[in-house]
Amino acid sequence: MGQVGRISRASLLGVVLVAQAFAPVVAQQPANPLAPYIKVQAPDVALTHVRVIDGTGAPARDDQTIVIRDGNIAALGAAAGTPPPAGATVVDLTGKSVIPGLVMMHEHLYYTTGPGVYGQLGVSFSRLYLAGGVTTMRTAGNVNGIMDINLARRIAGGEMPGPYIDATAPYVNGPNTFLQMHAVESANQARTHVQYWQEQGSTSVKAYMQISRASLKGAIDEAHKRGLKITGHLCSVTYGEAADLGIDNLEHGFFAATDFVADKQPDVCPGQGRGQQTIAALDEEGAPFKALVKKLVDKHVALTSTLTVFETFTPGRPMPPGLDVLTPQLKANFERAHERASQNQQSVYATLFAKAMRLERAFVKAGGVLIAGTDPTGAGGVVPGYADQRQIELLVEEGFTPVEAISIATLNGAKYLGRQGRIGSIALGKQADLVVIDGNPSATISDVRRVETVFKNGVGFDPAKLIESVKGQVGIW
Ligand SMILES: [Zn+2]
Repeated sequence: MGQVGRISRASLLGVVLVAQAFAPVVAQQPANPLAPYIKVQAPDVALTHVRVIDGTGAPARDDQTIVIRDGNIAALGAAAGTPPPAGATVVDLTGKSVIPGLVMMHEHLYYTTGPGVYGQLGVSFSRLYLAGGVTTMRTAGNVNGIMDINLARRIAGGEMPGPYIDATAPYVNGPNTFLQMHAVESANQARTHVQYWQEQGSTSVKAYMQISRASLKGAIDEAHKRGLKITGHLCSVTYGEAADLGIDNLEHGFFAATDFVADKQPDVCPGQGRGQQTIAALDEEGAPFKALVKKLVDKHVALTSTLTVFETFTPGRPMPPGLDVLTPQLKANFERAHERASQNQQSVYATLFAKAMRLERAFVKAGGVLIAGTDPTGAGGVVPGYADQRQIELLVEEGFTPVEAISIATLNGAKYLGRQGRIGSIALGKQADLVVIDGNPSATISDVRRVETVFKNGVGFDPAKLIESVKGQVGIW
């Protein structure tokens, strides 16, 4: 720095002036980027006189108090015996309910925006997921790779609003015709893919429809060696084969099973439609189905129910919720698709949708683990957050009680992720991930749509503000 002595007074003055011009910016504490969306934040928060639906499947408990401190549930019990701490921010929730933050397992940060094109909508989607009550989610595959990882990090760092994200690697798939998808052609390439993406920050893996058994085996072994779980939306590999290879989870209930296609060639996807014809015609009391269920249960393979995406293809079903947040063009595209679906009485979904619900129920009755997700792909009618609430309604339509359906969408997901010690149910000492609902979803499941506040790590977010911030924009970012 010997040259400093030669700088003239004038130029030195210039440096000082420039430094001063920037000084206010440097000195200012950066504003909390989450502040515009926060409704309740205090050292101690007491939710009083609330109905607790704890996520375990137990009956609702009326008139409870929950004390939140340092992001955790510091006290929980009957309101009469659980006074709010001195100085606590007290929120009287008489007549309202609280359920655990949703743990949703087939979510995406991309969306169908054009023919064969998936737009990366991670910023708006993470806000919508949180607004819908989702405090933890797995992205079940992606066509980009780094966005899921970066969003997971930024959200964890408090820079952006959104749920905790278990970020999958880009799909592990065989040769395919998707414009935005990698292809692996051997077990070795599958291993390299898993290794590379874990090193980038992915925390789970999803295999896809055209993968070979050999590549799938490579991906499963590499994932497990690295402590990652692996799921699959399969077609070329049957559910039974994947279970034998050691997969942890299968997506879309039985909608994607090709186990019952009579002339199925090994490692070849006979077409999703061929598989679905066999599922629509399958006898849930028959030996072939029962043998598959037994294998999945024995090998601890979880199934993810994603009724929401299939509902949008099924004739006679209501318009899905949340379309108003989409760009007008995407909304119109979906409305046309919905109209076509409603008029197509030949559609396999006319029988498949109800059948697949019965098969999922049979799987759970036989001891299988069902987790829940939404899959915001398809024709573009599955809107994050809104669809997560719809998925819970559909689990009730499938035959689960409301508290069972809530448990599938909370504690079951947490257990699958191995995080049930911290999240997934409302219990003393657990993380304060809580959804405040204006109503009683243990009696009327559609009340899950009436989300008033979403606590994540003890901070209460305002769903209306999160939604308002993206309204009409979803499809662009
Ligand atoms: Zn998906």
